[in-house]
Amino acid sequence: MTHAMATDPVETYVARRTFRMLVGGALVGAAGGATSEVLDPSTGRVIAEIPEAGAEDIATAVAAARRAAPDWSALGVEGRTRCFERFGALLVEHLEELAMLDAIDSGNPVRAMRTDVRICLPYVEGWPAMARMLGGQVIPASPGNLHYTSSMPYGVVGRITAFNHPVMFAATRPLPALIAGNTVVMKPAPQTGLSTLALAELYAEAFPPGVVNVVTGGAEPGDALVTHEAVKRIAFTGSVPTGLLIQRRAAESGQVKNVSLELGGKNAMVVFPDADVDEAVEGAIYGMNFNVCQGQSCGSNSRVLVHRRCYDEFVARAGRRLAEYRVAPAYSEEADMGPLVSAKHHTRVTRYVERGAAEGATLVTGGGRPAGVPDGGYFLEPTIFADVRPDMAIANEEIFGPVMSIMPWDGYEEMLTLANGVDLGLTASVWTNDLDLAHKTAERLDAGYVWINDSTRHYFGTPFGGTKNSGIGREESMEELLSYLEQKVVHTRLRDPHAALDRILGG
Ligand code: NAD
Repeated sequence: MTHAMATDPVETYVARRTFRMLVGGALVGAAGGATSEVLDPSTGRVIAEIPEAGAEDIATAVAAARRAAPDWSALGVEGRTRCFERFGALLVEHLEELAMLDAIDSGNPVRAMRTDVRICLPYVEGWPAMARMLGGQVIPASPGNLHYTSSMPYGVVGRITAFNHPVMFAATRPLPALIAGNTVVMKPAPQTGLSTLALAELYAEAFPPGVVNVVTGGAEPGDALVTHEAVKRIAFTGSVPTGLLIQRRAAESGQVKNVSLELGGKNAMVVFPDADVDEAVEGAIYGMNFNVCQGQSCGSNSRVLVHRRCYDEFVARAGRRLAEYRVAPAYSEEADMGPLVSAKHHTRVTRYVERGAAEGATLVTGGGRPAGVPDGGYFLEPTIFADVRPDMAIANEEIFGPVMSIMPWDGYEEMLTLANGVDLGLTASVWTNDLDLAHKTAERLDAGYVWINDSTRHYFGTPFGGTKNSGIGREESMEELLSYLEQKVVHTRLRDPHAALDRILGG
């Protein structure tokens, strides 16, 4: 089957457009004029060029953000909320364009990317509402004195993001820093800059100049942002190796910086023998995010630990269910799954598939190139391995692709050892109808976000983040908002009131 479309979305949304960065309120190219090619992962064709920033562009963007910071901070939550409202309205107006740009650029199916844009709205509304709840404390720490707390923004925040949810990250991740009164320099992943650059135009319309700056490029501008002396707060979403490097480079800058890290996952889903197998299979497939981003998601349940009593049934059903998936160019309405983000990433994920087979896991479904997709695209079938042993690479390493590993277990402690036996701890899920067992198990799973009879969904207000090498800090919650503010204590020594009375009354 081929996937002919009435109109070519690349022609409609990309071909005649110039994509520019946002620096100090102006839409600009890189200072040195450098650009990088944008590839459509559904075809492998070069479809556009975007600015490739260097350290000079970061310096200009940080200077602009620094200049804008005092007025933005002085505006207060009420004033800043007006900009959020305008931004939210623009997102709704541009929903289709942003979703299509993500499909074209990242390979994520357009139907899912429309949802990704809609998901931004509760964040655009939620952060100002949460910021209005911020308060200080009066602390009775010593008699005769008044101690109270207040908080202040850092100034300029550096925000670096990953490739897998481009528009969602670009439209939501700067928001808590902004509502707290900081200005932001944001750098998206180099593979998927288009929707972020389209969004830059909306930020320019909704926010005062310099408050939001968008700079595109790879490690070089990323490093310049992390090491810039005026950027004390850095928030990063990406891989563990880059996260470790950023911590090191931040320290090497000679300044003490607050770095929060949202990193990888190799998340366990635990299925007990009393679980509804149909529901659990749906939860496993949904939780892999095959149909949102080809499994390229930090929160995906890529390790499914199924009790031996329902193991065969689970494996057979999961295989049948996934075989129904339609893989097609990402901008096709019929795509359940699109291509992987790049040729390099496709090679990486395919190597894991080969390794899984070579190490003796059973290939239940997928593993190859789907039929009927364009020749140059980076497609891979949704893939399930069963009989995966804990010593295999596919059981331990984050693949970040459409590959799910299923492992059997017999004893409770054995299952916990398996579940907690990796160096990542982002999410986990527990599937059982026994309430006590569900909560006791949730308590013993070493992960930052645990679902009971659910997977992958997370909502504004609930702290999202990982334990172990999955990161530091929690997002999407009051914890994150507070992380963009520095606390101050004001200590007032209250003098003897009689002395004041004597002075005032002249007694
Ligand atoms: P990556 O680490 O390769 O890149 C992430 C970002 O870091 C990009 O913008 C990149 O240009 C930038 N970067 C690269 N080198 C840098 C340097 N030296 N200094 C500063 N910035 C630098 O990650 P990726 O491939 O884009 O994303 C996949 C990873 O992200 C996976 O591990 C995934 O689990 C993780 N992720 C985590 C979450 C979460 O919320 N925990 C969400 C999405 C993705």
